Amino acid sequence: MTSFPIMEYFYSVQGEGVFVGQPSFFIRMGGCDVGCVWCDVKDSWDAKKHPKLSIDFLIEEAKKYSSRLLIITGGEPAMYDLTELTKSFKKAGFQVHIETSGAYPLVGNFDWITFSPKKFKQPLESVAKMANELKIVVFNKSDIQWAEEHQKFVTSDCKLFLQPEWDKRKITEKIVFDYVLTNPNWFMSLQTHKYLGVD
Ligand code: SF4
Repeated sequence: MTSFPIMEYFYSVQGEGVFVGQPSFFIRMGGCDVGCVWCDVKDSWDAKKHPKLSIDFLIEEAKKYSSRLLIITGGEPAMYDLTELTKSFKKAGFQVHIETSGAYPLVGNFDWITFSPKKFKQPLESVAKMANELKIVVFNKSDIQWAEEHQKFVTSDCKLFLQPEWDKRKITEKIVFDYVLTNPNWFMSLQTHKYLGVD
């Protein structure tokens, strides 16, 4: 594939996980059938609503900025064959990261894989095994158990994050805070971009 439905692209600072604070170029792909009830990008779900943009165009846009870190997110970007996209960005000097729910096989060449499984569509064990970072959004207390179940599928090197769901953060931050204090192999991931009020 050489063009993709793109909901938006922008330059900002990574707000979550291991690379928090790092300036990055983001591509948010259109298309997702996972159906998380608390999804904060529901506009991304219908791929047909978004223009198809070419890889060459996206690279030219990304090169306008200083960072050479690309973060592919969605939507669910793994719905697409990302071989050409990842190859071309790497050739242009970018590190390529992706965030996926793991509901689809990953096709492409990635420097960092953030695996964020969701209860609403069964994730694949094959994606869990490839993950550099496991990120579980905590919407209620039972998500801690869900997190522990998925820890079993990732490698021992995989970084573990619990991320309080934003709209319920008064409750979810406390759940995560209390848990990581007694389970220090898990870290708390706050959506710092939302605290800053940026994309
Ligand atoms: S996987 Fe991501 S984009 Fe898709 S519904 Fe869930 S939170 Fe929204």
